[in-house]
Amino acid sequence: MLSEFDLIKRYFKRDRPGRAVLGIGDDCALLQPTPGRQLAISSDMLVEGRHFFAGADPRMLGHKALAVNLSDLAAMGARPVAFTLSLALPGADPAWLEGFAQGLFALADAHGCELIGGDTTKGPLNICITVFGELAPGHALRRDAAQAGDDIWISGTLGDARLALAGYLNEIALEPQALEQAGLRMHLPTPRVALGLALGLAPSSAPIAHAALDISDGLTGDLGHILAASGVGATLNVDALPAGPVLARQGRDLRRRFTAAGGDDYELCFTAPAGARAAVIDAGRQSDTQVTRVGTIDAQAGLRLVDADGKPLELGLAGWDHFAAG
Ligand code: ADP
Ligand code: MG
Repeated sequence: MLSEFDLIKRYFKRDRPGRAVLGIGDDCALLQPTPGRQLAISSDMLVEGRHFFAGADPRMLGHKALAVNLSDLAAMGARPVAFTLSLALPGADPAWLEGFAQGLFALADAHGCELIGGDTTKGPLNICITVFGELAPGHALRRDAAQAGDDIWISGTLGDARLALAGYLNEIALEPQALEQAGLRMHLPTPRVALGLALGLAPSSAPIAHAALDISDGLTGDLGHILAASGVGATLNVDALPAGPVLARQGRDLRRRFTAAGGDDYELCFTAPAGARAAVIDAGRQSDTQVTRVGTIDAQAGLRLVDADGKPLELGLAGWDHFAAG
């Protein structure tokens, strides 16, 4: 049986020069922030049986645990720098640890984000990551910055992760291939870091986007956070929402429901002034990320869902709430 220290040394401490002044091994890691930059910090925890099924593929879990955290940095317009990893493990299973570390470090290396510390304990499988990013003061894409008249934009596509969940729970019958394809969207989300940076750290003096967040609990619920924080309302064209490739082959009602209120999408929802449309499209091109304009921010409070013809839609949607859902 590996000791805690052997486990950290074998799977998580790497012999390569990093950015941190001091990485894994001491009581604290030491980071030297870039002069003039602010730190953006966020934590996200994944709990077995709550955020992923027991027996989930460890490589995909390693990816996802970091991806959901990088997604928060993206939504703030921050550049990833480093992260800590706190793990509760039922046991030291080498195959599991190997796969987990591979998935984790493949994504970490793709974003130049260094593992600088953490904690390891025995217990029910629980993965908590804290990420540290940097941004220029005044360039954070905050939830309270939406303004009436802004366009609402979405990155990538929505709904395939929710469709996969429906398939796994046998709420919907899906062909095995379709389930597998949609499942990859659930297990391997793509954090939109390059787009967030392009929208926030624009070469001009101000960011391109006003407000932004990442969609984890379903678009309508998450957009509601921007509306509440900014003291505005919105009109959302549900038929303009970009459906994932698997969901796009399903019927209209399901498409509407799972794009508007899916979950586990990890796409960005952001607002930008109408005058910035060309700049947003350019940011999408630069970051190789699809961007779709799906609605407008209104001075009038409330979220109005409309169809392609602008007619009101009542979908009876509720976002995902861990406590309400029991
Ligand atoms: P402490 O006794 O202060 O809790 P630990 O013995 O838990 O410290 O950890 C020793 C070192 O290993 C620390 O630098 C800590 O940040 C690091 N560490 C512990 N667990 C992990 C992990 N899962 N991933 C990365 N670093 C870790
Ligand atoms: Mg400790």
